[in-house]
Amino acid sequence: MMTEQENPAVTNFRNYIKIKTVHPHPDYASCTEYLQKQAKDLEAEFQVVECIPGKPAVIMTLLGEQPDLQSLLLNSHTDVVPVFPDYWKYDPFSAHKDENGDIYGRGTQDMKCVGIQYLEALKRLKKDGHKFLRTIHLTFVPDEELGGRDGMRHLVKMEVFKNMNIGLALDEGYASSTEKMEVFYGQRTPWRVTIECQGQPGHGSQFIPNTVGKKLRHIINSFLGYRDQQEQKLKDNPQLDLGDVTTVNLTYLKGGVLVNVVPAELSVAFDIRICPSEIETFEDRIRGWCKEAGEGVTYTIRDKLMTKEVTCVEDGKNPWWDAFSAACKKENVQLEKKIFPASTDMKYVRQLGINALGFSPMNHTPRLLHDHNEFLNEKIFLRGIDIYYSIILNLANLKPY
Ligand code: ZN
Repeated sequence: MMTEQENPAVTNFRNYIKIKTVHPHPDYASCTEYLQKQAKDLEAEFQVVECIPGKPAVIMTLLGEQPDLQSLLLNSHTDVVPVFPDYWKYDPFSAHKDENGDIYGRGTQDMKCVGIQYLEALKRLKKDGHKFLRTIHLTFVPDEELGGRDGMRHLVKMEVFKNMNIGLALDEGYASSTEKMEVFYGQRTPWRVTIECQGQPGHGSQFIPNTVGKKLRHIINSFLGYRDQQEQKLKDNPQLDLGDVTTVNLTYLKGGVLVNVVPAELSVAFDIRICPSEIETFEDRIRGWCKEAGEGVTYTIRDKLMTKEVTCVEDGKNPWWDAFSAACKKENVQLEKKIFPASTDMKYVRQLGINALGFSPMNHTPRLLHDHNEFLNEKIFLRGIDIYYSIILNLANLKPY
């Protein structure tokens, strides 16, 4: 397709897709090199912070006219999830563009699109002669798809992050198949909970007291009973989204010796995604269920995080939100405000009390993150740059309040 000259922003995006930052062995070295070139084009300060060796977080900075004011953070992650190439129409790292302008590739939606849209919007803003009151930082972080353990989790604890003095952070959202676009002002917190039940072992022919089976039954009934309740709550109220309720799924069972032996131990694990309004009391709930189940029933919560913080998205109450939503209005973006049902790196940022919004300007696009044949249409991609142009202009020039 040589009929029309490709928009350089699209070419830039496709080149980024071609870098194989795919787990389990992401090529972060090539990615960092690529981003260094981007920073140079943008005339931004560039630094690489390796919280963990081999896991670079790239930081770019455009100093504002009043650098003492709280800054704007534009965050994206550089890694992408694995692919099953046999299921793809095209090589997932070829960034193939078909006759409709659909660009196929791992990361086209999650979330290399956003990383490039920030950069391209900023390039245009600068070219148009715009100045910024506030400093703008861009972070390109590793390992978000592994929960950010070697990435954002460390970065937020570092001096360099604290010194950024962030007023609002922008990060990823979802593609939307309708005209509307979703903006996420909070997120659910994932907990991996394991319950261990201990009891009296013995021969399988008797009524042994204090057995693990009965305790496990109580635990499973309690967790899944709660699950039913939450599912019903979601079904009964069309105003609610998945992010407004807590999901519970039994994912792992362990124990047993022989069919005729009552074991001394059984354990069960649950994948729980807790909505912000439930998070503070959730451990009490688990503790109560364990106590009811009987003696010798204990729980462990792996990587216990408590993200109860949500960003205020009520008009007239948060100047950052007002600036964001005014820009969206100007660009004719219809917003739907939601709690993000899964987990992103913003959990670490929100915990510091920093305003954070998850937003990926992709509408009329099937949600294919982590799926086969992930793609983004170039027109949608380019419109996203226009949208960020207005958003960044508004946010970076938000007057002191
Ligand atoms: Zn992502």
